[in-house]
Amino acid sequence: MDKIFEKIELRLKQDHQVTPNEATVYQIHDALSKLIMDGIADTWYESRHMHERSRGAYYFSAEYLTGRMVYNNLYNLGLLDQVKAAFAEHGLDINMFEEIEDCALGNGGLGRLAACFLDSAATHDLPLDGYGIRYKYGLFKQSWRDGYQHEAADDWQRFGDPWSRRRSTHEVLVKFADQTVRAVPYDMPIIGYHTDNIGTLKEKNAVEDITRVLYPNDTTRAGKKLRLKQQYFLSSASLQDLMLRFKRENLSMEKFAAHNAIQLNDTHPTVSIPELIRLLMNEGLTFEQSFDIAQKTFGYTNHTVMQEALEKWDADLFQELLPEIFDIIYRINAKLCGELMSRGIDCSSYAIIQGNRIHMANLAVYVSHAVNGVAKIHSEILKNDVLKNWYELYPERFQNKTNGITQRRWLGLCNPGLAAYITKRIGDGWLLDLSELEKLKEHMTSTDIREFLEVKRQNKRALSDYVYAREGVRLPENFVFDVQIKRMHEYKRQLMNAFAILDIYYGIKDGRIKDFPPTAFLFGAKSAPGYIIAKTVIKFINEIAKLINNDDSVNDRMRVVFVQNYNCSYAEHIIPAADISEQISPAGTEASGTGNMKLMLNGAVSLCTYDGANIEILDAAGEENNYRFGASVDTLNELRPHYDPKAIYEHEPRVKRVVDTLVNGTFQDGGTGVFRSLYNSLVTGNSWQKPDYYFVLYELLPYIDRKLDAIYDTQDPLSFGRKALMNTASAGYFSSDRTVLDYARDIWDLKPFPHQYTLNLF
Ligand SMILES: *Cc1c(COP(=O)(O)O)cnc(C)c1O
Repeated sequence: MDKIFEKIELRLKQDHQVTPNEATVYQIHDALSKLIMDGIADTWYESRHMHERSRGAYYFSAEYLTGRMVYNNLYNLGLLDQVKAAFAEHGLDINMFEEIEDCALGNGGLGRLAACFLDSAATHDLPLDGYGIRYKYGLFKQSWRDGYQHEAADDWQRFGDPWSRRRSTHEVLVKFADQTVRAVPYDMPIIGYHTDNIGTLKEKNAVEDITRVLYPNDTTRAGKKLRLKQQYFLSSASLQDLMLRFKRENLSMEKFAAHNAIQLNDTHPTVSIPELIRLLMNEGLTFEQSFDIAQKTFGYTNHTVMQEALEKWDADLFQELLPEIFDIIYRINAKLCGELMSRGIDCSSYAIIQGNRIHMANLAVYVSHAVNGVAKIHSEILKNDVLKNWYELYPERFQNKTNGITQRRWLGLCNPGLAAYITKRIGDGWLLDLSELEKLKEHMTSTDIREFLEVKRQNKRALSDYVYAREGVRLPENFVFDVQIKRMHEYKRQLMNAFAILDIYYGIKDGRIKDFPPTAFLFGAKSAPGYIIAKTVIKFINEIAKLINNDDSVNDRMRVVFVQNYNCSYAEHIIPAADISEQISPAGTEASGTGNMKLMLNGAVSLCTYDGANIEILDAAGEENNYRFGASVDTLNELRPHYDPKAIYEHEPRVKRVVDTLVNGTFQDGGTGVFRSLYNSLVTGNSWQKPDYYFVLYELLPYIDRKLDAIYDTQDPLSFGRKALMNTASAGYFSSDRTVLDYARDIWDLKPFPHQYTLNLF
C-alpha cells in the first residue's frame, strides 16, 4: 500500500517539483492518473493489438458523457479502497478529486449510453472501441443568475487531461471543399472491471474551429454548417483510421465488412455511409461493391420519435461543403428509387433526397443491415409510425435493444453502502451479471428492509451535505426525496412537476392537504441555451423554490431545490439518495430513458407514465411497487386533434390557480415577459405549436394524485421500503452488459474473447 503513495510522491517530485503536502489537487490527480496510465500501458497495447486482429465493432457517436474518470478507473482496477487508505494514511482525503472536472463531451442520455456501452464491452471482453470527437469545450457549465440559467464555457482540459494519449503518428486529413483539416487522435483507455481487456475511446480533434464546441442541443436548433462539418469530420477521420488498420493487416478491401461492424449512435455520424463508399471506391472497388460492403457494415440506432429531431440537411449545403459525398448520396438515392420502381413501389416517401432536403434517417435505414429502437415500445413506434414505410419494405432489419446502464458506476461506485448490503446477502456476482439481483427477493424480511432503509438514510444525509455546500439549501435527511434529473425539455414535463409542487403547497396552506409527509423536491437539468421555454421553466422552478423555502409556515414539510450544473458526478450523488424517481413524459415521447434505470437500481420507486423503458421497469418490478399514471400512446394520439387545454384550465380551479401564478404577479420574471409566453404556450398556443403540446394540463391532476399516493405511502416505512428494495432486486435486465451482449450477438456478430485478470499495477 505504501508503495502506491511512494510512487505518487516520486511522480509529484519529478513532474511538478512538489511534495504531496504542497501539491494542488490537480497535481495529485495528474500524478496518480499518469501512474496508472503507465501501469496499464502494456496491457492496453496488447488489447489494441488483439482488437485489430479480430473482427471488431466500432461505436460511432458524436457524444460521450464519460464523467469523471479517476474514481471509476480506480474502482474498475480494484484499487479504489487501497488508494483511499494510502491517501488517508498520509492525511489526504480521496474526496479531493471531487474538484476534478467531469469529462462532459455529451449532452445527456445518448452520450451517457455510449459511455456505459464502452464500460460493459471492455468488462465482458468484447472487441468494441468508440469513435468520437474531442471537443475543446464540453457541455456548458450552468449556474443561476437571479434564478435564470447562466452558461459558461466548459474548459475541461484547463488542468490537462492525463487520461488520454495523443497519437500524432495516426493523424489523417479530412477534406472539405473550402478547407482541409488535420484530425489529431487522442486515445482514452476504457478500463473494464477486473479484466485485462482494455478498450479504447478514440477521439478526434481538429486544430481548427470545427471541434471547438459540443452542440448543446438534445434535439434540433443547430448552427448548421459547422455541425455538418463536425459530423463529416468524425466520420471521415474514424473511417480512415479503420482503413489504415485494415491495410496494416494486409487484408483485401473486399473483406471490410467481414472484419468491421460499425454502429451509428443516432443519425449524427450517418454521413459515414457515403464516406465509406467513397473510400472503398478510391481503393478500386465499384460503387455496387462498396454499397454492398457499407450495408453489411453499418447498423443504425434510432433515439427519437420526434419528427423535428430526425436530421435533415439542406442539399445545397452538402453540395457546397462535400460535393463528392453529395454525388454518392445522389447515386444511393437513384439506386433506392430504381429498386423500388422495379418492385412497383412509389419512392417519394423513402427518398433520401427530397426537394432540397437530405433525410439522414432514410439514408441510415437504407444502407444498414440492422435498425434498432432503444426500448420495446419505442421499437414498436418505429415500426408502426416513424419508419412504418421502411418496416413494410425490410421487416427483417428491425430490432429492439432496450438501453441499459453499467452497474459498476451506477451502483458499485456511486452507492457503496447499498453495494455492500447486496454483496453481504448474495455475493458480488451481480457486478458482472446483474440478473443475480433477483436473489435479493429471498432477503425481504423486516430486518433486511430496515437495514436497506438505513443505507438510504445515510445516502440522504450525504446528499444533504453535498447539496447544502453547493446550493445553500438544506434538505433534511428525514424528508422524502423526490427527484427529477434529466435534460430540461418540454416533453420531459418538469413544468408539470413544478405545478404539482405548487398545488401541494397551496393544499397545505389551505388545509386541503393534511399531515403531509415532509418532502424534498429536487431538480437537476440543463437547458439548451437557445431553448427559451425550457429556460423559462428553470426560472419558474427557482421562483417556486424561493417562495416555498422562505415560507416558515410550510418549509418544515416542503423544500425545493434546483441544483446547478447537473452532470454525471452530481447524478452519482443524487441517485443513491432518491426515494421517488420522476419519469413523467407523455406516453410516446421518451424513447427509453436511462435515468429511470439508474434510480430503480438504487432503490427508488418510479412515479411514471407508460412510456419508454418505464413500461419494462413496471413489468419487471411490478405495478404494485411503483406509481403509474397517465394516458397510453393510443389515447393521446386519439385525443391530440381535439385536445382543448383551455377548457381544463377554465373548469379545474386547482389547475387554473397554479397556471395563473405565471401571470398574476405571484412570481416575477424580471420584466422579461417569459412567464407570459410560457402561459401562452399552455393556454393559447403560438404560431408553431398547438397549446399544451405535451398534455401538461390534461395529466396534471391524475399526476398529483399518484404523487401524493407515493409520498403518503412512505409513512409505512416497511411497506414502502419493500417496494423500493423490490425495484433494486428487479433491475437485473437493465444492465448495459445485457444490452451490449445483445448487440454483439444480434447485430455485430461478435464474440467475447475470454481473459484472465492479470493486471497488477502496484
Ligand atoms: C443518465 C443521465 C442522463 C439521462 O437521463 P434521462 O432521465 O434518461 O433523460 C442525462 N444526464 C446525465 C448526466 C445522466 O447521467
